[in-house]
Amino acid sequence: MKLFPFLSLFILITFVSCAQKQQVEKAKTDKATTTTTSSIEKIEKSKEEWKSMLTPQQFEVLREQGTERSFSGKYWDNKETGTYYCAGCELPLFTPTTKYKSGTGWPSFWEPIHENSVETEVDNKYGWTRTEVHCARCEGHLGHIFEDGPKPTGLRYCINSVSLTFEKKSDADAKKKDE
Ligand code: FE
Repeated sequence: MKLFPFLSLFILITFVSCAQKQQVEKAKTDKATTTTTSSIEKIEKSKEEWKSMLTPQQFEVLREQGTERSFSGKYWDNKETGTYYCAGCELPLFTPTTKYKSGTGWPSFWEPIHENSVETEVDNKYGWTRTEVHCARCEGHLGHIFEDGPKPTGLRYCINSVSLTFEKKSDADAKKKDE
């Protein structure tokens, strides 16, 4: 009978320890989910379908994980007001408000337009580990994320111009917003 309090204590400690472990595992799973998946409905097309609707360079970068030459794209130095869309499916991805001059020759942003607009994947190509970033809807390759960006996120979304289209905000739209 003297063993009973010790036995109860042992069972309690074991239970609390298990519950804590489960919480930690759940937190890890939640974090992984929020950084790599989204609730946006996917668009799926065959390789042939993508080939027929994209330019050869868009296909190479978006569907084959290619990279455009730095300082060669349309948007690395674009300072106009508007919205950047996915060149594959027209999902809005970035705005000029989070674009900054990184000096890399690729359009660089410190944050996407919405948290769910993009997804990430570990990229181990070329013998080093990088974080690949792609469109959440069509899974078209956009570029990579690096941790040398400006505040507040400290991230650099290094994006290929060819993966994007840009719609300039008209003067009328800008005026409407000011009113
Ligand atoms: Fe897309």
